[in-house]
Amino acid sequence: MLDKRQFYIDGKWVDPKAANDLEVIDPSTEEPVAVISLGGQADTDAAVAAAKRAFPDWSATSPEDRLGYAEKILDVYQKRADDMAWAITHEMGAPADMSAESQVMAGVGHTKNFIRAFRDFEFVRPLGPHAPTTMISWEPVGVVGLITPWNWPMNQVTLKVIPALLAGNTIVLKPSEIAPLSSMLFTEIMDEAGVPAGVFNMVNGDGEGVGSQLSVHPDVDMISFTGSTRAGIAITKAAADSMKKVALELGGKGANVIFADADDKAVVRGARHCFNNSGQSCNAPTRMLVQREIYDQAVETAKEVAEKTRVASGHDSGRHIGPVVSKKQWDQIQGLIEKGIEEGARLVAGGPGLPEGVNRGYFVRPTVFADVTNDMTIAQQEIFGPVLSIIPFENEEDAVRIANDTEYGLTNYVQTQDGAKRNRMARKLRSGMVEMNGESRGPGAFFGGVGRSGRAREGGIWGIEEFMDSKAISGWDPEA
Ligand code: NAD
Repeated sequence: MLDKRQFYIDGKWVDPKAANDLEVIDPSTEEPVAVISLGGQADTDAAVAAAKRAFPDWSATSPEDRLGYAEKILDVYQKRADDMAWAITHEMGAPADMSAESQVMAGVGHTKNFIRAFRDFEFVRPLGPHAPTTMISWEPVGVVGLITPWNWPMNQVTLKVIPALLAGNTIVLKPSEIAPLSSMLFTEIMDEAGVPAGVFNMVNGDGEGVGSQLSVHPDVDMISFTGSTRAGIAITKAAADSMKKVALELGGKGANVIFADADDKAVVRGARHCFNNSGQSCNAPTRMLVQREIYDQAVETAKEVAEKTRVASGHDSGRHIGPVVSKKQWDQIQGLIEKGIEEGARLVAGGPGLPEGVNRGYFVRPTVFADVTNDMTIAQQEIFGPVLSIIPFENEEDAVRIANDTEYGLTNYVQTQDGAKRNRMARKLRSGMVEMNGESRGPGAFFGGVGRSGRAREGGIWGIEEFMDSKAISGWDPEA
């Protein structure tokens, strides 16, 4: 078992001030793979103090210098890609190929997009020709606390660390205690890239401990958080007394609206997307809304996709899905599948219990419910497992009403070959993102939601501005 008990503070790996061990469990085997420490107040204080000391010098470095560090980080990250894929597979269960191709590469993609966006970043911008002596300037926020989840660990870490650094902030990262290994490797990468002492610090811990301590800390100027809506609310309240900036990326319950004139791959694509990463994505299209004319066929197709989706160990290579992250998540998903049955949804594939022939590991059967109504628990609550709910609709108006009938508002999806209908739908859906006809957002577009999905904007230029404060200046000398 790996010994990963140390934290990274002020440019050095250090022991925790007090022992508080936690085993990291490999969800494919239920065996411990590493032991980490959960930090306490003294560890949090030491990391925040280091970040605070480093801020004046780091924030005074030139943008070109900071860009150089980001490029070096990217370089070392790519060199360590195999180790990173191994860590992600063993901490959260993503299959080996998926870890290498999607989980690790998400970090590469985001970092490249930030580097590109930052090259053109204007720190001081004129308000406009009508007010030539007024300028808007962008400045780092200060010490930022970054709190990340386990489901797309490097996606989340790079979406926060890279722009925070480029913007000139200093950092304390607290990764998920359930999946900390990738972040510990990322910390080694930061060290090898030569990021100056104190600029980047990493302390492991749980939400009640280090997470809450960062959220209330008077010397932390901003918290950027990705995770559950429950924790997002707790962090917002904890941060209120010190008036921190708080950026939240939370859960989702995305609708995938499939019209009768959708392309013939739409249902397969939607079901696969829902099951990807074992359903553990906040932007998963978990509510499939299907127009009545093609409803029966869509249910049949989704059932076939579920039955063909192989579930196997994260250690194996291949195009299967792995386990879900923990026993706690497994239990929660089982409870929601039972609830779906109890509330009268029609189970057409999968269902409760382990997949056939499996007796260890937190594996869930790819599950499809049909005849779901939007008031059912499985249509309202985020399941975070490979569970698809199919809901029929009659027309455009009906589809918009059902899709928007949720507390969440992260990503909605639309499938139709009618361009005008697509554009109308995109405007009417209440969410931070709308993806249509299977086309992903262009590189450098932001990721973020509305409502109980949180209102952060991560990625590209918006993701850099997120880690900055703006200042309006009048009396500027444009000639100086
Ligand atoms: P979680 O909220 O339990 O934990 C996320 C992180 O927050 C962990 O590091 C945890 O230690 C910490 N934390 C927990 N309680 C805290 C508290 N009171 N104060 C401070 N920190 C606290 O969520 P999870 O189970 O790790 O992740 C799954 C959730 O994250 C899902 O709801 C999912 O939709 C959401 N998520 C959202 C996005 C997004 O970008 N919108 C991305 C990934 C995951």
